[in-house]
Amino acid sequence: MRSTVALAACDSYEDETVLSAMRKLLCLLGGAGAFAREGEKILLKPNLLAARTPERAVTTHPSVFEAAARLLAETGARLSYGDSPGTEGLRLVARKAGLSPRAERLGIPEGDFHTAVNLDFPAGRFEKSFPVAQAAAEADGIISLCKMKTHGLTRITGAVKNTFGCVAGFEKARFHLRFPNARRFAGMLTDLNLLLKPRLYIMDGVVAMEGEGPSSGDPVRMGLLLASRDPVALDAVFCRLVALDPGFVPTITEGAASGLGVFRDGEIEILGDPPERFRNPAFRVTRMPAAGDATLQALRPVRNLLIPRPVIHEEACRKCGICVKACPVAPKKALSFPGGNEKRTPVYDYSLCIRCYICHEMCPHRAIRIRTPLLGRVVSRLLRKAPEHMP
Ligand code: SF4
Ligand code: SF4
Repeated sequence: MRSTVALAACDSYEDETVLSAMRKLLCLLGGAGAFAREGEKILLKPNLLAARTPERAVTTHPSVFEAAARLLAETGARLSYGDSPGTEGLRLVARKAGLSPRAERLGIPEGDFHTAVNLDFPAGRFEKSFPVAQAAAEADGIISLCKMKTHGLTRITGAVKNTFGCVAGFEKARFHLRFPNARRFAGMLTDLNLLLKPRLYIMDGVVAMEGEGPSSGDPVRMGLLLASRDPVALDAVFCRLVALDPGFVPTITEGAASGLGVFRDGEIEILGDPPERFRNPAFRVTRMPAAGDATLQALRPVRNLLIPRPVIHEEACRKCGICVKACPVAPKKALSFPGGNEKRTPVYDYSLCIRCYICHEMCPHRAIRIRTPLLGRVVSRLLRKAPEHMP
């Protein structure tokens, strides 16, 4: 099996620039008509993790959303859009991210992401039933509009992980608890992608997020859009652009193991602009195996000396309690207000913490940082790879 990934340079979020790059991407993959037909219900699934402005690079940029929407609308498909944000409502997040004004202007309604429809998936390796948002369950096709970002648990959040937002409302936290290890969590995500089968994954890499993604990292210009039918191949190309071994990304390895896609040299054909143009080996991302995979299982006795942990910066913390509410560990939380006093900074119980990093993802004030212990930093440096040869 060989997959195709298309790359198009895109220097800015200026509307015409993005539209032209998007047109080029879709042409390389057969045109918008290859992914949507007249009368079909097509759901656009951007990354709307949290209510942040587009400059923060947390969410899919509105000009990328608009460009994809315009070209797909030309097919005569009936478009809708939506996502299940972490803790806030879709309407609030879409407004802050600048998407809803564009959607309103284009006449694209918000899909129903509150109502859950249980979809069975007997073939699932890790999960056999998902509470999927009605908008995703009833769509004829899904177009994923993912964002190029780092992620504490899965190293990157790109194409495979973006589909997680099709799980309805706050059901997502339950999945983190049921799949506390990165490999199993990635396996569940793979099953979800195989169930919903988005027709196309388009990645916003014009300005990506490096460092402490997916919400507290720093914007970094990468200058491109990428697209593929294969989310595993798309994520693997992202990895190679930033000198991250795709083998460290559980959504890639589990995706390949389940037949969702491919990632090895020789299995991916690149179309469009040459990848050399976009390489950024200095991109800040954790270059070590994700917690829970075979390597770290073998190193279990020194697990806490290796695995990055969330840490709260007292001076930045506003005591809003969002992180405490978001922590899925129960009944005894891995993160709580000391003595129940909500005027004090929350504290961690690392013996209970499953390192899902949801608290870090959800903190709106960037008060939670991910800190890798010294031994982990040494191992990460040893594992840093030179950029691999692109297929
Ligand atoms: S760490 Fe962040 S989310 Fe948690 S209480 Fe402080 S400001 Fe709120
Ligand atoms: S404390 Fe944070 S990282 Fe640990 S389990 Fe809770 S939400 Fe996840």
